[in-house]
Amino acid sequence: MAKIQMKTPLVEMDGDEMTRILWQMIKDELLLPFVELKTEYYDLGLEHRNETDDQVTIDSAEATKKYGVAVKCATITPNAARMTEYNLKEMWKSPNGTIRAALDGTVFRAPIQVKGIEPCVKNWEKPITLARHAYGDVYKNTEIKVPGPGKAELVFTGEDGKEIRQTIMDFDGPGIIQGIHNKDKSIESFARACFNYALDTKQDLWFATKDTISKIYDHNFKDIFQDIFDKEYKEKFDAAGIEYFYTLIDDAVARVMKAKGGFIWACKNYDGDVMSDMVSSACGSLAMMTSVLVSPSGVYEYEAAHGTVQRHYYKHLEGEETSTNSVATIFAWTGALRKRGELDGITELCDFADKLEKATLGTIESGKMTKDLALITSLKDVTVLNSENFIKAIREELEKLL
Ligand code: NAP
Ligand code: MG
Repeated sequence: MAKIQMKTPLVEMDGDEMTRILWQMIKDELLLPFVELKTEYYDLGLEHRNETDDQVTIDSAEATKKYGVAVKCATITPNAARMTEYNLKEMWKSPNGTIRAALDGTVFRAPIQVKGIEPCVKNWEKPITLARHAYGDVYKNTEIKVPGPGKAELVFTGEDGKEIRQTIMDFDGPGIIQGIHNKDKSIESFARACFNYALDTKQDLWFATKDTISKIYDHNFKDIFQDIFDKEYKEKFDAAGIEYFYTLIDDAVARVMKAKGGFIWACKNYDGDVMSDMVSSACGSLAMMTSVLVSPSGVYEYEAAHGTVQRHYYKHLEGEETSTNSVATIFAWTGALRKRGELDGITELCDFADKLEKATLGTIESGKMTKDLALITSLKDVTVLNSENFIKAIREELEKLL
Protein backbone atom coordinates (compact mmCIF):
# COMPACT_ATOMS: atom_id res chain seq x y z
CA MET A 1 0.00 0.00 0.00
CA ALA A 2 1.32 3.47 -0.90
CA LYS A 3 1.75 5.80 2.03
CA ILE A 4 -0.82 8.57 2.49
CA GLN A 5 0.62 11.95 1.51
CA MET A 6 0.09 15.14 3.53
CA LYS A 7 0.11 18.74 2.31
CA THR A 8 0.49 21.02 5.34
CA PRO A 9 2.66 20.01 8.30
CA LEU A 10 1.15 19.23 11.67
CA VAL A 11 2.74 21.00 14.60
CA GLU A 12 4.18 18.15 16.69
CA MET A 13 4.87 18.93 20.36
CA ASP A 14 6.83 16.14 22.01
CA GLY A 15 6.74 15.81 25.79
CA ASP A 16 7.99 14.00 28.87
CA GLU A 17 8.40 10.71 30.72
CA MET A 18 6.14 7.73 29.93
CA THR A 19 4.05 9.62 27.40
CA ARG A 20 7.24 10.52 25.51
CA ILE A 21 8.00 6.78 25.25
CA LEU A 22 4.45 6.05 24.05
CA TRP A 23 4.71 8.95 21.58
CA GLN A 24 7.63 7.31 19.76
CA MET A 25 6.00 3.85 19.81
CA ILE A 26 2.79 5.27 18.34
CA LYS A 27 4.70 7.00 15.56
CA ASP A 28 6.82 3.95 14.76
CA GLU A 29 4.08 1.33 14.86
CA LEU A 30 0.87 3.12 13.95
CA LEU A 31 1.70 6.19 11.87
CA LEU A 32 5.00 6.10 9.97
CA PRO A 33 4.33 2.78 8.18
CA PHE A 34 1.11 4.19 6.70
CA VAL A 35 1.42 7.97 6.44
CA GLU A 36 4.18 10.09 4.91
CA LEU A 37 4.06 12.07 8.12
CA LYS A 38 4.74 15.76 7.65
CA THR A 39 5.29 17.53 10.96
CA GLU A 40 7.09 20.57 12.25
CA TYR A 41 8.70 19.14 15.38
CA TYR A 42 9.00 21.01 18.69
CA ASP A 43 10.59 19.24 21.63
CA LEU A 44 8.66 20.41 24.70
CA GLY A 45 10.45 17.85 26.88
CA LEU A 46 11.49 19.62 30.09
CA GLU A 47 15.22 19.43 29.33
CA HIS A 48 14.80 21.21 26.03
CA ARG A 49 12.42 23.78 27.51
CA ASN A 50 15.11 24.51 30.07
CA GLU A 51 17.86 24.75 27.42
CA THR A 52 15.80 27.20 25.35
CA ASP A 53 14.54 29.23 28.35
CA ASP A 54 11.07 27.97 27.40
CA GLN A 55 11.27 29.74 24.03
CA VAL A 56 10.42 26.41 22.35
CA THR A 57 6.95 26.47 23.97
CA ILE A 58 6.27 29.97 22.66
CA ASP A 59 7.58 28.98 19.21
CA SER A 60 5.34 25.91 19.13
CA ALA A 61 2.30 28.04 19.98
CA GLU A 62 3.21 30.49 17.20
CA ALA A 63 3.62 27.61 14.75
CA THR A 64 0.16 26.36 15.77
CA LYS A 65 -1.30 29.77 14.91
CA LYS A 66 0.49 29.61 11.56
CA TYR A 67 -0.49 26.08 10.49
CA GLY A 68 -3.77 25.69 12.38
CA VAL A 69 -3.41 22.17 13.83
CA ALA A 70 -1.12 20.80 16.56
CA VAL A 71 -0.77 17.53 18.43
CA LYS A 72 0.77 17.63 21.90
CA CYS A 73 2.29 15.01 24.17
CA ALA A 74 1.82 15.39 27.95
CA THR A 75 4.50 17.54 29.59
CA ILE A 76 5.82 18.08 33.09
CA THR A 77 4.69 21.27 34.82
CA PRO A 78 7.71 21.98 37.02
CA ASN A 79 7.40 22.19 40.81
CA ALA A 80 10.06 22.31 43.52
CA ALA A 81 10.90 18.60 43.16
CA ARG A 82 11.34 18.94 39.38
CA MET A 83 13.69 21.91 39.88
CA THR A 84 16.18 19.56 41.54
CA GLU A 85 15.41 16.51 39.40
CA TYR A 86 16.09 18.38 36.14
CA ASN A 87 18.47 21.02 37.51
CA LEU A 88 16.25 23.77 36.12
CA LYS A 89 17.29 27.41 35.65
CA GLU A 90 13.77 28.54 36.53
CA MET A 91 10.43 27.03 37.50
CA TRP A 92 9.07 27.25 33.95
CA LYS A 93 5.35 27.85 33.58
CA SER A 94 2.91 25.14 32.56
CA PRO A 95 3.24 24.66 28.76
CA ASN A 96 -0.52 24.14 28.56
CA GLY A 97 -1.04 27.49 30.28
CA THR A 98 1.38 29.22 27.88
CA ILE A 99 -0.22 27.65 24.80
CA ARG A 100 -3.75 28.36 26.05
CA ALA A 101 -2.89 31.99 26.69
CA ALA A 102 -1.34 32.34 23.21
CA LEU A 103 -4.29 30.74 21.43
CA ASP A 104 -7.02 32.22 23.69
CA GLY A 105 -8.74 28.89 23.62
CA THR A 106 -11.45 26.80 25.20
CA VAL A 107 -10.75 23.19 26.21
CA PHE A 108 -13.18 20.49 25.07
CA ARG A 109 -12.98 17.11 26.77
CA ALA A 110 -14.99 14.00 25.93
CA PRO A 111 -14.82 10.42 27.17
CA ILE A 112 -13.86 7.74 24.63
CA GLN A 113 -16.56 5.13 24.96
CA VAL A 114 -15.97 1.50 24.21
CA LYS A 115 -17.97 -1.70 24.78
CA GLY A 116 -16.85 -3.36 27.96
CA ILE A 117 -16.03 -0.12 29.78
CA GLU A 118 -19.48 1.18 30.68
CA PRO A 119 -20.13 4.54 32.33
CA CYS A 120 -21.60 4.31 35.85
CA VAL A 121 -24.51 6.43 34.60
CA LYS A 122 -26.35 3.78 32.63
CA ASN A 123 -28.35 6.12 30.41
CA TRP A 124 -25.23 7.86 29.02
CA GLU A 125 -25.27 6.16 25.63
CA LYS A 126 -23.11 8.80 23.96
CA PRO A 127 -20.22 10.88 25.27
CA ILE A 128 -20.86 14.18 27.01
CA THR A 129 -18.32 16.77 25.88
CA LEU A 130 -17.35 19.36 28.47
CA ALA A 131 -16.33 22.82 27.32
CA ARG A 132 -14.50 24.63 30.08
CA HIS A 133 -13.87 28.36 30.06
CA ALA A 134 -10.23 28.59 31.04
CA TYR A 135 -9.96 32.22 32.18
CA GLY A 136 -10.75 34.16 35.34
CA ASP A 137 -13.35 33.82 38.12
CA VAL A 138 -12.09 32.11 41.24
CA TYR A 139 -8.86 31.03 39.45
CA LYS A 140 -7.64 34.62 39.34
CA ASN A 141 -9.00 35.91 42.62
CA THR A 142 -7.99 38.31 45.38
CA GLU A 143 -8.84 37.26 48.92
CA ILE A 144 -8.66 38.90 52.32
CA LYS A 145 -9.07 37.31 55.72
CA VAL A 146 -11.01 39.93 57.61
CA PRO A 147 -9.47 40.29 61.09
CA GLY A 148 -12.41 41.89 62.87
CA PRO A 149 -15.23 44.46 62.71
CA GLY A 150 -15.13 46.92 59.79
CA LYS A 151 -16.56 47.75 56.40
CA ALA A 152 -15.75 45.80 53.20
CA GLU A 153 -16.32 47.68 49.93
CA LEU A 154 -16.13 46.91 46.22
CA VAL A 155 -14.54 49.83 44.37
CA PHE A 156 -13.92 50.35 40.66
CA THR A 157 -11.91 53.42 39.61
CA GLY A 158 -12.28 54.30 35.94
CA GLU A 159 -9.42 55.74 33.87
CA ASP A 160 -11.16 59.11 34.20
CA GLY A 161 -10.95 58.81 37.98
CA LYS A 162 -14.68 58.19 38.47
CA GLU A 163 -15.51 55.68 41.16
CA ILE A 164 -18.18 53.04 41.50
CA ARG A 165 -18.44 51.97 45.12
CA GLN A 166 -20.61 49.42 46.89
CA THR A 167 -20.67 47.98 50.35
CA ILE A 168 -20.04 44.26 50.44
CA MET A 169 -20.53 43.83 54.17
CA ASP A 170 -20.45 45.73 57.45
CA PHE A 171 -18.53 43.13 59.46
CA ASP A 172 -19.29 42.88 63.19
CA GLY A 173 -16.51 40.31 63.63
CA PRO A 174 -13.87 38.31 61.69
CA GLY A 175 -14.67 36.84 58.28
CA ILE A 176 -13.48 36.50 54.70
CA ILE A 177 -13.87 38.38 51.40
CA GLN A 178 -12.99 37.54 47.81
CA GLY A 179 -12.73 39.59 44.61
CA ILE A 180 -13.10 37.88 41.23
CA HIS A 181 -13.44 39.13 37.67
CA ASN A 182 -13.89 38.19 34.06
CA LYS A 183 -13.56 40.09 30.79
CA ASP A 184 -16.21 40.46 28.09
CA LYS A 185 -13.58 39.71 25.46
CA SER A 186 -12.69 36.37 27.07
CA ILE A 187 -16.36 35.40 27.49
CA GLU A 188 -17.00 36.28 23.83
CA SER A 189 -14.10 34.04 22.74
CA PHE A 190 -15.42 31.25 24.94
CA ALA A 191 -18.89 31.59 23.41
CA ARG A 192 -17.60 31.54 19.82
CA ALA A 193 -15.35 28.55 20.51
CA CYS A 194 -18.37 26.66 21.87
CA PHE A 195 -20.68 27.59 18.98
CA ASN A 196 -17.99 26.68 16.41
CA TYR A 197 -17.28 23.36 18.09
CA ALA A 198 -20.99 22.50 18.20
CA LEU A 199 -21.28 23.19 14.46
CA ASP A 200 -18.07 21.26 13.79
CA THR A 201 -19.23 18.15 15.64
CA LYS A 202 -22.99 18.59 14.91
CA GLN A 203 -23.99 18.38 18.55
CA ASP A 204 -26.40 20.47 20.64
CA LEU A 205 -24.86 23.01 22.99
CA TRP A 206 -25.97 23.50 26.59
CA PHE A 207 -24.82 26.40 28.72
CA ALA A 208 -25.67 27.03 32.35
CA THR A 209 -24.75 29.49 35.10
CA LYS A 210 -26.26 30.65 38.39
CA ASP A 211 -27.78 33.82 36.93
CA THR A 212 -30.75 33.83 39.31
CA ILE A 213 -28.41 34.49 42.22
CA SER A 214 -25.55 36.27 40.43
CA LYS A 215 -27.72 38.81 38.66
CA ILE A 216 -24.87 40.84 37.14
CA TYR A 217 -21.83 38.54 36.98
CA ASP A 218 -23.35 35.28 35.77
CA HIS A 219 -26.06 37.13 33.90
CA ASN A 220 -23.34 38.76 31.81
CA PHE A 221 -22.20 35.31 30.63
CA LYS A 222 -25.78 34.41 29.71
CA ASP A 223 -26.35 37.68 27.83
CA ILE A 224 -23.08 37.50 25.87
CA PHE A 225 -23.78 33.92 24.76
CA GLN A 226 -27.35 34.78 23.71
CA ASP A 227 -26.31 37.93 21.88
CA ILE A 228 -23.57 36.20 19.87
CA PHE A 229 -25.84 33.25 19.16
CA ASP A 230 -28.68 35.42 17.83
CA LYS A 231 -26.41 37.59 15.68
CA GLU A 232 -23.89 35.09 14.33
CA TYR A 233 -24.98 31.49 14.80
CA LYS A 234 -28.75 31.02 14.90
CA GLU A 235 -29.12 30.42 11.17
CA LYS A 236 -26.12 28.10 11.03
CA PHE A 237 -27.49 26.06 13.93
CA ASP A 238 -30.90 25.81 12.24
CA ALA A 239 -29.25 24.66 9.02
CA ALA A 240 -27.22 22.03 10.88
CA GLY A 241 -30.31 20.84 12.79
CA ILE A 242 -28.73 21.48 16.18
CA GLU A 243 -29.85 23.51 19.18
CA TYR A 244 -28.39 25.99 21.68
CA PHE A 245 -30.10 26.21 25.00
CA TYR A 246 -29.43 28.01 28.24
CA THR A 247 -30.63 26.86 31.62
CA LEU A 248 -29.84 27.31 35.30
CA ILE A 249 -26.81 25.26 36.46
CA ASP A 250 -28.95 23.26 38.95
CA ASP A 251 -31.34 22.30 36.17
CA ALA A 252 -28.41 21.41 33.87
CA VAL A 253 -26.88 19.06 36.45
CA ALA A 254 -30.22 17.32 37.00
CA ARG A 255 -30.83 16.99 33.26
CA VAL A 256 -27.31 15.70 32.54
CA MET A 257 -27.83 12.79 34.92
CA LYS A 258 -30.96 11.76 33.03
CA ALA A 259 -29.74 12.53 29.50
CA LYS A 260 -28.53 10.10 26.85
CA GLY A 261 -25.41 12.17 26.11
CA GLY A 262 -24.22 13.27 22.68
CA PHE A 263 -24.11 17.02 23.46
CA ILE A 264 -21.66 19.71 24.54
CA TRP A 265 -21.96 21.14 28.02
CA ALA A 266 -20.35 24.56 28.29
CA CYS A 267 -19.30 25.47 31.82
CA LYS A 268 -17.82 28.47 33.57
CA ASN A 269 -14.28 27.89 34.82
CA TYR A 270 -15.10 26.40 38.24
CA ASP A 271 -18.12 24.40 37.06
CA GLY A 272 -16.01 22.99 34.23
CA ASP A 273 -13.22 22.00 36.59
CA VAL A 274 -15.41 19.93 38.89
CA MET A 275 -17.91 18.67 36.31
CA SER A 276 -15.21 17.35 33.96
CA ASP A 277 -13.80 15.31 36.83
CA MET A 278 -17.27 13.96 37.49
CA VAL A 279 -17.90 13.02 33.85
CA SER A 280 -14.46 11.46 33.33
CA SER A 281 -14.46 9.40 36.50
CA ALA A 282 -17.99 8.19 35.74
CA CYS A 283 -16.56 6.96 32.42
CA GLY A 284 -13.75 4.91 33.94
CA SER A 285 -10.34 6.38 33.22
CA LEU A 286 -8.45 9.57 32.42
CA ALA A 287 -6.69 7.62 29.70
CA MET A 288 -10.05 7.26 27.94
CA MET A 289 -10.61 10.96 27.43
CA THR A 290 -9.92 13.18 24.43
CA SER A 291 -8.94 16.79 24.88
CA VAL A 292 -8.76 19.55 22.31
CA LEU A 293 -8.05 23.24 22.66
CA VAL A 294 -9.99 25.31 20.14
CA SER A 295 -9.33 28.98 19.56
CA PRO A 296 -11.98 31.41 18.30
CA SER A 297 -9.91 31.88 15.15
CA GLY A 298 -10.29 28.17 14.36
CA VAL A 299 -6.92 26.80 15.51
CA TYR A 300 -6.87 23.31 17.06
CA GLU A 301 -4.48 21.66 19.49
CA TYR A 302 -5.09 17.98 20.35
CA GLU A 303 -3.69 16.26 23.44
CA ALA A 304 -4.39 13.55 26.02
CA ALA A 305 -6.23 14.63 29.17
CA HIS A 306 -3.79 12.86 31.51
CA GLY A 307 -0.25 13.70 32.61
CA THR A 308 3.13 12.11 31.89
CA VAL A 309 2.36 9.02 34.04
CA GLN A 310 5.48 9.53 36.15
CA ARG A 311 5.07 6.41 38.31
CA HIS A 312 5.08 4.15 35.25
CA TYR A 313 8.11 5.98 33.81
CA TYR A 314 10.19 5.35 36.91
CA LYS A 315 9.31 1.65 36.66
CA HIS A 316 10.28 1.73 32.99
CA LEU A 317 13.64 3.30 33.90
CA GLU A 318 14.27 0.47 36.32
CA GLY A 319 13.72 -2.02 33.52
CA GLU A 320 10.32 -3.13 34.81
CA GLU A 321 7.45 -3.82 32.45
CA THR A 322 4.73 -1.14 32.22
CA SER A 323 1.14 -1.39 31.08
CA THR A 324 0.41 2.23 30.24
CA ASN A 325 -2.72 3.07 28.28
CA SER A 326 -1.92 4.89 25.02
CA VAL A 327 -5.52 5.40 23.85
CA ALA A 328 -5.79 9.12 24.70
CA THR A 329 -2.44 9.83 23.01
CA ILE A 330 -3.45 7.84 19.92
CA PHE A 331 -6.73 9.80 19.78
CA ALA A 332 -4.78 13.06 20.02
CA TRP A 333 -2.95 12.00 16.83
CA THR A 334 -6.11 10.83 15.06
CA GLY A 335 -7.93 14.04 15.99
CA ALA A 336 -5.09 16.13 14.57
CA LEU A 337 -4.67 14.02 11.41
CA ARG A 338 -8.40 14.07 10.72
CA LYS A 339 -8.57 17.85 11.17
CA ARG A 340 -5.53 18.28 8.87
CA GLY A 341 -7.25 16.01 6.34
CA GLU A 342 -10.46 18.05 6.53
CA LEU A 343 -8.66 21.37 6.13
CA ASP A 344 -6.50 20.15 3.25
CA GLY A 345 -9.19 18.05 1.57
CA ILE A 346 -7.31 14.75 1.97
CA THR A 347 -10.04 12.12 2.41
CA GLU A 348 -7.54 9.25 2.80
CA LEU A 349 -6.07 10.96 5.84
CA CYS A 350 -9.50 11.32 7.46
CA ASP A 351 -10.27 7.66 6.63
CA PHE A 352 -6.97 6.58 8.13
CA ALA A 353 -7.75 8.46 11.36
CA ASP A 354 -11.19 6.80 11.51
CA LYS A 355 -9.69 3.37 10.98
CA LEU A 356 -6.96 3.84 13.58
CA GLU A 357 -9.61 4.81 16.14
CA LYS A 358 -11.72 1.83 15.11
CA ALA A 359 -8.72 -0.49 15.43
CA THR A 360 -7.92 0.90 18.88
CA LEU A 361 -11.46 0.38 20.17
CA GLY A 362 -11.69 -2.98 18.39
CA THR A 363 -8.55 -4.18 20.17
CA ILE A 364 -10.07 -3.37 23.57
CA GLU A 365 -13.43 -4.88 22.62
CA SER A 366 -11.66 -8.10 21.59
CA GLY A 367 -10.40 -8.36 25.19
CA LYS A 368 -6.86 -7.05 24.72
CA MET A 369 -6.16 -4.07 26.94
CA THR A 370 -3.85 -2.37 29.41
CA LYS A 371 -4.04 -2.97 33.15
CA ASP A 372 -6.03 0.18 34.03
CA LEU A 373 -8.91 -0.99 31.82
CA ALA A 374 -8.64 -4.66 32.78
CA LEU A 375 -9.41 -3.58 36.35
CA ILE A 376 -12.76 -2.02 35.40
CA THR A 377 -13.98 -3.89 32.35
CA SER A 378 -17.18 -5.94 32.25
CA LEU A 379 -15.64 -8.22 29.58
CA LYS A 380 -14.63 -11.76 30.57
CA ASP A 381 -11.33 -13.47 29.65
CA VAL A 382 -9.29 -10.34 29.08
CA THR A 383 -5.60 -10.33 28.16
CA VAL A 384 -3.54 -7.68 29.94
CA LEU A 385 -0.85 -6.36 27.61
CA ASN A 386 2.21 -4.28 28.31
CA SER A 387 2.57 -0.79 26.83
CA GLU A 388 4.34 -1.99 23.69
CA ASN A 389 2.28 -5.09 22.99
CA PHE A 390 -0.96 -3.15 23.31
CA ILE A 391 0.20 -0.83 20.52
CA LYS A 392 1.33 -3.85 18.47
CA ALA A 393 -2.09 -5.46 18.93
CA ILE A 394 -3.69 -2.26 17.61
CA ARG A 395 -1.39 -2.42 14.58
CA GLU A 396 -2.62 -5.93 13.76
CA GLU A 397 -6.22 -4.74 13.98
CA LEU A 398 -5.38 -1.68 11.85
CA GLU A 399 -3.73 -3.74 9.11
CA LYS A 400 -6.92 -5.80 8.83
CA LEU A 401 -8.92 -2.61 8.27
CA LEU A 402 -6.58 -0.97 5.75
P1 NAP B 1 -0.83 11.45 35.57
O1 NAP B 1 0.33 11.41 34.70
O2 NAP B 1 -2.15 11.75 34.92
O3 NAP B 1 -0.94 10.03 36.31
C1 NAP B 1 -1.62 9.83 37.52
C2 NAP B 1 -1.98 8.35 37.68
O4 NAP B 1 -3.12 8.07 36.86
C3 NAP B 1 -0.92 7.39 37.21
O5 NAP B 1 0.04 7.15 38.20
C4 NAP B 1 -1.73 6.19 36.81
O6 NAP B 1 -2.15 5.46 37.95
C5 NAP B 1 -2.96 6.82 36.22
N1 NAP B 1 -2.81 7.08 34.76
C6 NAP B 1 -2.78 8.29 34.14
N2 NAP B 1 -2.65 8.14 32.82
C7 NAP B 1 -2.58 6.80 32.60
C8 NAP B 1 -2.42 6.02 31.43
N3 NAP B 1 -2.30 6.59 30.21
N4 NAP B 1 -2.37 4.68 31.56
C9 NAP B 1 -2.49 4.10 32.74
N5 NAP B 1 -2.65 4.79 33.90
C10 NAP B 1 -2.68 6.13 33.82
O7 NAP B 1 -0.64 12.51 36.73
P2 NAP B 1 0.61 12.78 37.69
O8 NAP B 1 1.40 11.54 37.87
O9 NAP B 1 0.01 13.46 38.84
O10 NAP B 1 1.48 13.80 36.91
C11 NAP B 1 2.71 13.49 36.26
C12 NAP B 1 3.19 14.72 35.52
O11 NAP B 1 2.27 15.05 34.51
C13 NAP B 1 3.34 15.95 36.40
O12 NAP B 1 4.67 16.44 36.27
C14 NAP B 1 2.33 16.94 35.86
O13 NAP B 1 2.87 18.24 35.85
C15 NAP B 1 2.10 16.45 34.47
N6 NAP B 1 0.76 16.73 33.90
C16 NAP B 1 0.71 17.10 32.60
C17 NAP B 1 -0.49 17.29 31.96
C18 NAP B 1 -0.49 17.68 30.52
O14 NAP B 1 0.55 17.91 29.93
N7 NAP B 1 -1.64 17.77 29.90
C19 NAP B 1 -1.68 17.07 32.66
C20 NAP B 1 -1.61 16.65 34.00
C21 NAP B 1 -0.38 16.47 34.60
P3 NAP B 1 -1.36 4.18 38.56
O15 NAP B 1 -0.01 4.67 38.94
O16 NAP B 1 -2.22 3.82 39.74
O17 NAP B 1 -1.29 3.12 37.52
MG1 MG C 1 -10.42 19.36 38.63
